[in-house]
Amino acid sequence: MILSRPIRAGIILAVALGVAGCATQAPSPASPPKPCGAAPTFAEGGERSTLWIRTSAEFRAVSEQTYRAALTALAEGRATSVWTAEPTQTGDLAALPPAIVMDIDETVLDNSAPQAQMLLDETCFGEFASVWDAWVARRSAPAVPGAVEFIRAARALKDPQGRPVRIFFITNRECSRRDGNESACPQQDDTAANLRTLGLDSPTLPDDLMIKGERPEWVSEKLSRRLEVARQYRIVLNVGDDLSDFLPEVRRQTVSVRDQARCAHDSEWGRRWFMIPNPMYGSWLVALGPDAGAALAGEPQVLEDCGRR
Ligand SMILES: [Mg+2]
Repeated sequence: MILSRPIRAGIILAVALGVAGCATQAPSPASPPKPCGAAPTFAEGGERSTLWIRTSAEFRAVSEQTYRAALTALAEGRATSVWTAEPTQTGDLAALPPAIVMDIDETVLDNSAPQAQMLLDETCFGEFASVWDAWVARRSAPAVPGAVEFIRAARALKDPQGRPVRIFFITNRECSRRDGNESACPQQDDTAANLRTLGLDSPTLPDDLMIKGERPEWVSEKLSRRLEVARQYRIVLNVGDDLSDFLPEVRRQTVSVRDQARCAHDSEWGRRWFMIPNPMYGSWLVALGPDAGAALAGEPQVLEDCGRR
């Protein structure tokens, strides 16, 4: 979620479902009326995935192992001058200092708490934006397991020329004014404060944060922000929880097209790209469309081995 991923996912899913908001409908006499009428609520169906994130040792283990593997890869990547995690990056890479690009929500900050609350409250699609912004303003999201240790360790490293590794956070949390707040982007202030609370302050915060809408060209599609980083830095690693954190033009694609994109970059995973699992929301969910039953009954439409066999 971000003023972004969740919001974006929710909005897209809402559109896909033809849900305009919390339109009132006649309550069923067989069950108490829900606040959204017959329309699905924002987090509907997310009980097990949210509990998995919030309670399972399995999630903590896979998240921590991913970050430890990323740190191991960084040791090679920072020392290899031709190494880049951005496929479009070309030129004299050795001349550039090293950087890592990371997503924020469900990659560094854990937003399963509002997800759980929205399930309990049966929050409507139309209520999501205000619920989400109130959560961002609390500045109290805990860290995704392994993220703090990874960021601290990465920032302590240098490339062979003695240039430190800088971390850029490319997030679809969105700049949006709030009543009584003079800041043009209170969400940037909040996110920086949240990171500081977790011990992730740096002399370059909040400039390390690349917020959606901070510049006109910084839209939901993150490629323009990766290219902005690539103009001045060699991008050594990319860490995210959604395919669109790594690849352009996959946000609204089908299951099949998204998986072909995964395979087209098969060699990046676990080497320069590291994915944190997020079963709660994301462009993977949007790709399934509004009919979960049909998706369950259909063929998966994913490639088993990317042609490696
Ligand atoms: Mg995310």
